[in-house]
Amino acid sequence: MTDRETLLELVAAVRARIAWCAETGLESDHAATRAPTSPAATPEVRPMDDSVEAGRARPVMETSRPSPVVSEELDLLTEPAVRAATDLVQLRAAIGDCTRCKLASGRTNLVFGVGNPAAELVFVGEAPGRDEDIRGEPFVGRAGQLLTEIITKGMKLRREDVYIANIIKCRPPQNRNPEADEIASCEPFLVRQLGLIRPKVIVALGTFAAQTLLKTRTPITRLRGTWADYHGIPLMPTFHPAYLLRNPADKRVVWGDIQHVMAALGLPR
Ligand code: URA
Repeated sequence: MTDRETLLELVAAVRARIAWCAETGLESDHAATRAPTSPAATPEVRPMDDSVEAGRARPVMETSRPSPVVSEELDLLTEPAVRAATDLVQLRAAIGDCTRCKLASGRTNLVFGVGNPAAELVFVGEAPGRDEDIRGEPFVGRAGQLLTEIITKGMKLRREDVYIANIIKCRPPQNRNPEADEIASCEPFLVRQLGLIRPKVIVALGTFAAQTLLKTRTPITRLRGTWADYHGIPLMPTFHPAYLLRNPADKRVVWGDIQHVMAALGLPR
């Protein structure tokens, strides 16, 4: 076993411990915890400017954002060039033509993420599918079209106003769930992305994104609709658009979750 593989196993074990602490309610030193569910837990996020230009709310650039994402155990794996990246272009360059995990051999394109590098809102999905692998852009298939409708028709934003990324940057074979070693390799890049963007709100799309970001095994049916905290950034878990394609009746509850996000961002509803 190489040093890197040993380290990956160690990180997976630390994560399992954190997940167990989260599930059992035991104290953990990890910063990502569930927020209390009372109305008082509604995040205090500064509102966006409520001016509407050409029918669309314009995000306001603010000088202060939540403090940078910190994740001590991920630092073990964060390479110096990734840690040193001061913008998304440098971060993408630091990742390079990645062969750090076994997904590299099956991918067409690494799907880094897309959107406004200073976005106030970041959507995090699971992993690229076939369309995303071919195009090198997240959420461009059928589920992506639904996400785009939520952003443009529902929130009255443009896709390029927000930032969209996944937990995993390369397509798993047959779209299977990402595995622990793949997450351990890839998650430091997302952590750095979120640290550089420093959004006001994160929306976790589906079981996998919500459980990975929050280090919990709690089902998405219980997580969704309630604010959580991701290293100081309010995080709203909701159903994945691919689930909504199979269960259109649940679009209504996702719209409810998105309305909480819009309220938190001060977007007109
Ligand atoms: N599903 C995801 O979780 N991410 C994508 O980019 C596409 C589909």
